[in-house]
Amino acid sequence: TIGMVALDAAGNLSGACTTSGMAFKMRGRVGDSPIIGAGLYVDNEVGAATATGVGEEVIRVVGSFLVVELMRQGYSPEAACKDAVMRIVKKKPANAKEIQIGFLALNKKGEHGAFCLQKGFSYAVTTAGQEQLIQGKHHF
Ligand code: ASP
Repeated sequence: TIGMVALDAAGNLSGACTTSGMAFKMRGRVGDSPIIGAGLYVDNEVGAATATGVGEEVIRVVGSFLVVELMRQGYSPEAACKDAVMRIVKKKPANAKEIQIGFLALNKKGEHGAFCLQKGFSYAVTTAGQEQLIQGKHHF
C-alpha cells in the first residue's frame, strides 16, 4: 500500500491510498485499502490515518477509523497508531510476529506519527521546502 495524508495551507486534511493487494490472494478478495475506515480515514475536525499490511487484520479492527478516533480522544498520532497495532496483536498473540501491519497518522495540528508491528517501516514527510525520511517505531 502507498498511503498519503496531507494538511493544506488552509488547514484542511485529506488522504489517499493505493494497494498492490496480497500475493496469492483469492480471486475476488477485497483488502482494506478500498474500504473507508479500514485502509484510510479522514475526519477534517481531527486527523487522517492510513494503513498498510494484512488487510484482513486492519478491517477487523476498522484500523484507520480507530486511529482517528483515538486522536479525537487526545492520543498523539504515534500513540494512536501504536494502540491500533497493539489491538491487532492482542487479538492474534500466537502469530502476531508473522503479521505485517503499519499505520500512519496526521492530526489537525500537523503532528504526524507511525507505528508498525515489524521493523523497517519508514515514511516521508514533506513540509514547505523540506523533506524528511522518518523511521516508524515498531513492536518487534
Ligand atoms: N493492505 C493491502 C491489502 O491487504 C496490502 C498492501 O498493499 O499493503 O490488500
